[in-house]
Amino acid sequence: MVVVTEPGATEKQIEDIIKALHEHGFDVHRSTGVRQTVLGAIGVHPDFDHRQVELLPGVAEVVRITEPYKLASRAFQKEGTIVQVGDVKIGGNDVVIIAGPCSVESEKQIFAVAEHVSRTGARLLRGGAFKPRTSPYSFQGMGEDGLKLMRSAADAYGLKVVTEVMDKSQIALVENYADVLQVGARNMQNFTFLKDLGEASKPVMLKRGLSATIEEWLMSAEYILSGGNGNVFLCERGIRTFETATRNTMDIGAIPVVKRKSHLPIIADPSHGIGIRDKVIPMARAAIAAGADGLMIEVHNDPDHAKSDGAQSLFPEQFDQMMREVRIIAEAIGRHIA
Ligand code: PEP
Ligand code: MN
Repeated sequence: MVVVTEPGATEKQIEDIIKALHEHGFDVHRSTGVRQTVLGAIGVHPDFDHRQVELLPGVAEVVRITEPYKLASRAFQKEGTIVQVGDVKIGGNDVVIIAGPCSVESEKQIFAVAEHVSRTGARLLRGGAFKPRTSPYSFQGMGEDGLKLMRSAADAYGLKVVTEVMDKSQIALVENYADVLQVGARNMQNFTFLKDLGEASKPVMLKRGLSATIEEWLMSAEYILSGGNGNVFLCERGIRTFETATRNTMDIGAIPVVKRKSHLPIIADPSHGIGIRDKVIPMARAAIAAGADGLMIEVHNDPDHAKSDGAQSLFPEQFDQMMREVRIIAEAIGRHIA
């Protein structure tokens, strides 16, 4: 249930409403707007009579939320959330481009890619230092050395850093180097970890699970939001279907669906979404056309020798081509790529 206060409600009235909600057994999340205050009341019983709240002084409206997620829903917050990463806004009118290799492999590699993608308009550098690999014998990432390299490459070219954190023990370390914490598809329903991220100080990019429904995905976001971290954005990265012609099935439809259901920004990762290099650009174009707030693209200076995901990584020149094309599409729908 969401309680919207009247524009002229006094602080005393708002506090009394919160007190009443607590007495009825609700957990209350307050969001203070310029004109009105919105109170998210969590834990409604099926037989609760909403009029008990509607009648309180200072209450303008009580909205019942039927979705199981509350804080992540559009009913709780009508305007889209903007996640601020330094001077970069994710979820505003500008479409934000994140690019970089699947894994950080060496100083030479990460600097070459960072230099290239920053020149063409990327604002964030991606790259894994802790890699969730299907096989324990595959390259597991460079760990802290990788984080250090990424941070210095990003700083050298005016980029922000997004990188994956795989469990609680890595959060503090990764926060030292990164601007955004990535939750990988395989961790989307690691609920204790999501709670830990609710206490993290950095924004979280939550990737969609391999076989997660949109509702399950938003419930996972709800874990982070209800833990106290409101800086969450989503990343569609393709799902498992019966189709075997592509690595995953890129669910472009999830983009407008999430936009309607949630105020959280959503970006698209067509690299993992389709998994085949020559099809990444068309899927990037489609994602922007569908309303994505950004793209995350794997780019490698030498994809044929990449330690992970080379087959889906763009050559630097292909990244430039993609940028030229998605800029035109963004403008066509009234958006912009810096
Ligand atoms: C990645 O971004 O490199 C990655 C491992 O992605 P996902 O969790 O979506 O598979
Ligand atoms: Mn990858």
